[in-house]
Amino acid sequence: MSNLRPGVGYLEVCEGVENEIRRRGGDPAFPSGLGVNEVTAHFSPEQGEKRFITDDDLVKLDYGVHIEGYIADTSVTVTNNAAYQPLLKATERALQAAIEVVKRDRRVGEIGRAIAREASKDGFKTISNLSGHTVERYVVHAGKSIPNMFMPNLPVLRQDEVFAIEPFLTFGDASGYVVDSEPETIFSIIARKRTGSKELDELLEMIWSGRKSLPFTPRWFAKGYEMAKMVRYLKELEARRLVRAYPTLVEQSRRPVAQFEHTVALDSDGAVILT
Ligand code: MN
Ligand code: MN
Repeated sequence: MSNLRPGVGYLEVCEGVENEIRRRGGDPAFPSGLGVNEVTAHFSPEQGEKRFITDDDLVKLDYGVHIEGYIADTSVTVTNNAAYQPLLKATERALQAAIEVVKRDRRVGEIGRAIAREASKDGFKTISNLSGHTVERYVVHAGKSIPNMFMPNLPVLRQDEVFAIEPFLTFGDASGYVVDSEPETIFSIIARKRTGSKELDELLEMIWSGRKSLPFTPRWFAKGYEMAKMVRYLKELEARRLVRAYPTLVEQSRRPVAQFEHTVALDSDGAVILT
């Protein structure tokens, strides 16, 4: 991850990681996400993005690999800003604490409890409306959520399940939840149906052949398309409920957020870290 440092452009970071995934024989499981400061999730730089990482920034890179639909999802946070170091370290410890409590037949709320407890030791709080998730073939976010706080009566973890644990931490004075924001850079196909429009059908088929139900970003298909036209077509497909968009999520009070994530498989002895 040598690209993830001050002075490097957002686009260069994300295209770098996506190209490295392909070079090693995988394919991105979703568009690599770059979350700078309060930008928390679901932002992937677009074509023409000019911004670059600065010394003050807290930067999350969230990326995933799939091979024939089998998915690994991970993230790291970096910063050169001393004021953000304790937040970064606490988030790393929270992920560690979460992995330590993973056990067969344990309720997922117990993982949330371990994460929140670790965060509060240093006066930080977790983002209450983001969570980890089980992973299934061609499905990044499958049935079960793994909360970042204690919640009672949630499902238990079963042997052979694969799931991502991803604590998001912020400062104690922050709101502690994320809200939808602009722009929309990540999409996925939710249904395949003829639309009656040749252009829309062709776009849907082209994306489906590359991505199936996995998320994508328009810049991946920029070669064959004029970008403004593709965005317009995606809006039409969204209106017909064939495509969904994932808006950029930002911390409500605009405070910085750190994230670490691993994908874990549960075998008879406990967690096996896959990432
Ligand atoms: Mn992730
Ligand atoms: Mn995830």
